[in-house]
Amino acid sequence: MKRVMMREPHTLEIVDEAPGAPGPGEVLLDIKTIGLCGSDLHTYQGHHPFVPDYPIWPGHEVAAVVNSVGAGVDEALAGKRVALEPSLVCGVCRNCRAGRYNICESLRVMGFQAPGAMGEQFVTPADRLHVLPDAMPFTVGAFVEPAAVAVHAVRLVERVAGKDIAVVGAGTIGLMVAQVVRAYNPASLVMVEISPARRAVAEAMDFEVRDGLDQHTIDIGFECVGIGAALRSAILACRKGGSVVVMGVFGEDATIPAGLIQDWEVRLLGSLMYVGADYQEAIRLLGRGDIQVDRLLTDIYPLVGVTAAFERALQRGDVLKVMLEV
Ligand SMILES: [Zn+2]
Ligand SMILES: [Zn+2]
Repeated sequence: MKRVMMREPHTLEIVDEAPGAPGPGEVLLDIKTIGLCGSDLHTYQGHHPFVPDYPIWPGHEVAAVVNSVGAGVDEALAGKRVALEPSLVCGVCRNCRAGRYNICESLRVMGFQAPGAMGEQFVTPADRLHVLPDAMPFTVGAFVEPAAVAVHAVRLVERVAGKDIAVVGAGTIGLMVAQVVRAYNPASLVMVEISPARRAVAEAMDFEVRDGLDQHTIDIGFECVGIGAALRSAILACRKGGSVVVMGVFGEDATIPAGLIQDWEVRLLGSLMYVGADYQEAIRLLGRGDIQVDRLLTDIYPLVGVTAAFERALQRGDVLKVMLEV
């Protein structure tokens, strides 16, 4: 079976491997679709802050069909369409025991610190799977992972209903967050984006888009860019007592108005990945059409076109989600 290996930054190879067999508690997946995300591009460019070693086996935004199950796994899972939850956690640390396993002290994520699923088949623990509705296309199923990132961030704040919300950054994650917020009835919702191509997508999805935020106008800001200026603008836009959820992957430290954070009692909340309940809610919102992905999926490549796919994703601009189809 064919599998993608990132030997070093900017070097992807397709390797041939013997097909795996599921051990006890495991399943063998036939992979159908794999999304590329910002984190994959960070590793491809060699500057992901939390990935120590190459080679890397990428692939964490995955929709698949269960080919076969190992001992102790429910036979009924065979043939099911599934999304893969790529986190591997210890289950015993303080955060795991509190149900916050997304911040497990020894968290490893498939595609980064553990092998990922970018290939024709993949063996994984059965408890890492979420069954998808039969009618959900695989191209939508691969969006469950980024949608769960958005759901998790929105669930971190007490409630968005009735609040004035801003989402800074209209990339894939920002557009996901904005759709999740919209599903929960905010008082108002604006997106901030300066790229004309991304503005056009957000506007086509009926979001109000601005190129900046006025001070003291929002209750909650979602920072989905990963640069200091975006975080700073979200903080400054808060009313007293507001909250800012930090979702971007920051390549370098940011300068933030600490005095105002103190004086206005602004809460800064980091958001990392998701837990199982976020996956379930993401599947529900995608299934209901509250999260639409048609305009986010800009490019589909075959598995053997993986290098072209990564290079295309790096062009940004009019590119949002690039996906591999197996
Ligand atoms: Zn991702
Ligand atoms: Zn843990």
